[in-house]
Amino acid sequence: MATNLEKFIKDQLSIWSEVSNRYRDLRNVSTRTMNIGGLDVTLQHNPARLSSATARIDEESLKARECFLCPDNQCAEQIRMRFVGRKGRKYNIQINPFPIFPRHLVIPRVRHCEQSIWHHFVDILDLSKAFSDYIFFYNGPKCGASAPDHMHFQGAPRHLMPLERSIDSCLSSFPAQDEDGKPLDLPGKLEHICSLLDAHLYHYKQFTRGIFVLRACTAKSMGKLFYRLLECAPLSKDDKEPKFNLFSYYTAGSGSNAAEGEYRAIVVFRERHWSHHYFSDGPDHLTMGLGCADMAGFFIVPVPEDFAKITEEMLAEMVDEVSLSAESEQDIIWRLTRQQRTVDVGIMSADEIVFEIISDGAGPQKVSIRDGRIDYNGVLYDELYFDAVTRSTFFAEASFVLHAVTIGVDFHWERKLDQTFAGSLKFIASNNKVLAINTIGVEDYLLSVISSEMKASAGLELLKAHAVISRSWLMSQLERPKGLASRSSERVSVASGELVKWWDHDDHSLFDVCADDHCQRYQGLTMAVGENVRKAIDATWGQVLRFKGSICDTRFSKCCGGVTERFSTCWEDRDLPYLRVINDTPDGTPDTRCFCDTDDKAILSQVLNDYDLESSDFFRWERRYTRDELSELVERRSGLGLGSLRELIPLERGGSGRISRLKLVGDKGSMVIGKELMIRRTLSESHLKSSAFEIENTGEGFILRGKGWGHGVGLCQIGAAVMACRGYNYKQILAHYYPGAELTEK
Ligand SMILES: [Zn+2]
Ligand SMILES: [Zn+2]
Ligand SMILES: [Zn+2]
Repeated sequence: MATNLEKFIKDQLSIWSEVSNRYRDLRNVSTRTMNIGGLDVTLQHNPARLSSATARIDEESLKARECFLCPDNQCAEQIRMRFVGRKGRKYNIQINPFPIFPRHLVIPRVRHCEQSIWHHFVDILDLSKAFSDYIFFYNGPKCGASAPDHMHFQGAPRHLMPLERSIDSCLSSFPAQDEDGKPLDLPGKLEHICSLLDAHLYHYKQFTRGIFVLRACTAKSMGKLFYRLLECAPLSKDDKEPKFNLFSYYTAGSGSNAAEGEYRAIVVFRERHWSHHYFSDGPDHLTMGLGCADMAGFFIVPVPEDFAKITEEMLAEMVDEVSLSAESEQDIIWRLTRQQRTVDVGIMSADEIVFEIISDGAGPQKVSIRDGRIDYNGVLYDELYFDAVTRSTFFAEASFVLHAVTIGVDFHWERKLDQTFAGSLKFIASNNKVLAINTIGVEDYLLSVISSEMKASAGLELLKAHAVISRSWLMSQLERPKGLASRSSERVSVASGELVKWWDHDDHSLFDVCADDHCQRYQGLTMAVGENVRKAIDATWGQVLRFKGSICDTRFSKCCGGVTERFSTCWEDRDLPYLRVINDTPDGTPDTRCFCDTDDKAILSQVLNDYDLESSDFFRWERRYTRDELSELVERRSGLGLGSLRELIPLERGGSGRISRLKLVGDKGSMVIGKELMIRRTLSESHLKSSAFEIENTGEGFILRGKGWGHGVGLCQIGAAVMACRGYNYKQILAHYYPGAELTEK
């Protein structure tokens, strides 16, 4: 094929004298050499490239001009050699009529479609393998492509670009792995970042920031690692892909694996296309827009004055301006190398479970319980494990489906649904049922639970705060001492005349958390993941709240009512230093308007579901009962036999005004009830909004005037939503509701 290409180029030049002359002129162009960031780079004075350097690529200009990559608009002399990529994608290999290199190819797709690397990466790999004397490259739509509206690659002979030469000598001198298969740093310039199967990714440390290098034996692994790298790079709001230049070539291999060829690629991430020099009217003006060749250390200078005046300092400044920021570069490396623990989530338990492993193509299969063991294809097991390749550093893809999972257990909307999950699947026999457990990365788990719990419309900082709270709760489940008796859920202390109960979270023994509201509602990848949720988890990856080293108990409720409550008012008699009584106000005094005192529907809808929106009286509320109504209700809810109620007497209140001990006086007896939740359950058909209420005995009945919704301990969800809307960031929100707690990376 390579010889075909040489013949094609000769044929083309022989019939197209204008272009043939340009290729001839190229042999005599002036060049200069400079050193930028340790790399010896070349400057080429190439006047023929002026129109390309100044091409306007804004949307209007593109629309106004004829597409020069569509065959109909090209010179009659231009001939084409067909290349077919994957899935029948057709390309024309053509000669570039305005060359930079002695052989300079343009390879547009036949169909006019916009410049984009999504789906096209594998085609540049195939091109590289088919023509291994060439290096192929791709200018991102905002990184030098003068036809961002028409998908195209370019090609040039190998070994002409300084960056390619520097990286290639490094890759060719050292194998990817040591004898034990451990990936190696390549001395000096290339630092190993991560690997995926046979693909390895390095960070190149010379020339400028944002340069990454990939090598792989198979196109498949190369593609996977490349797209993972792209996922980890910053994406501007108006862009469809990160800003980068890409180079790809194929080498017959070297050293120990000389028999095996290798795909190699260089990705140069960018901040912008032009530096300020391009737009300047002053003496530092330079008519240079940096594309692939430039970013590989082969700078094109079309204007003679520029070529004469440009200094090493100017060029270094220019490269610095268009390169990725140091912070973004660190972010990419962090995303590629960070870790996440796994969590075991109990999904469902049944006599029989139908499931499907997505990657094996076997379709639906079945496990059932037989003699207390798991029957799978007629063989009995105590435990069955279907492992999935989990991506420890970024969000995972779907790996299995469970059929007919019951969701909304005990809710009016309870129903069965097929659910899709990432991570591994384990079946164990328990209580004569098959129990399905999903082992998944903590961050992947959070991506799912925050998506079900919060509205897609929720502000980013609110979502970040929630991500930290949920993660802290989850990590406390993972870090709790295993093998000890689980904490009991109901604690009763009935002294004479007192019934004080509270309920706390019941721990699981066979897995870390369940998929129901008991823990956090988890439906795998079944529901769409909001873009903001993804951003929130990504930005807070691994962060939890700690106090003196221990993970915080990050309770939260809907609305504190103005003042937050302490722990002991609601649960056992101990207090936590970061769950304090605070005024939910900007200055911490009771004199300013509370954050959660709002009726802004847009904010409320971020925290409450539509049903809840109907009851917008949560900051202050009122409940009226006749004496008979309340007496009957209390008897039905408590069975205490107090008769007709005479008085309700608060004996003890927490810092938010929530009653923790309430004396009920009836004509047949009296009883003190508590704590917070017990009171709310006793005085309402379901739950009274809170126990922070004043009581007016009107003679005919009782009026309860209350504040807030929920226990009021820790973060106030409505207050936090208001804070996020007013521009507080998640760290400020968490510091407000959990004073003294520290945000730490796990
Ligand atoms: Zn076109
Ligand atoms: Zn649970
Ligand atoms: Zn509040």
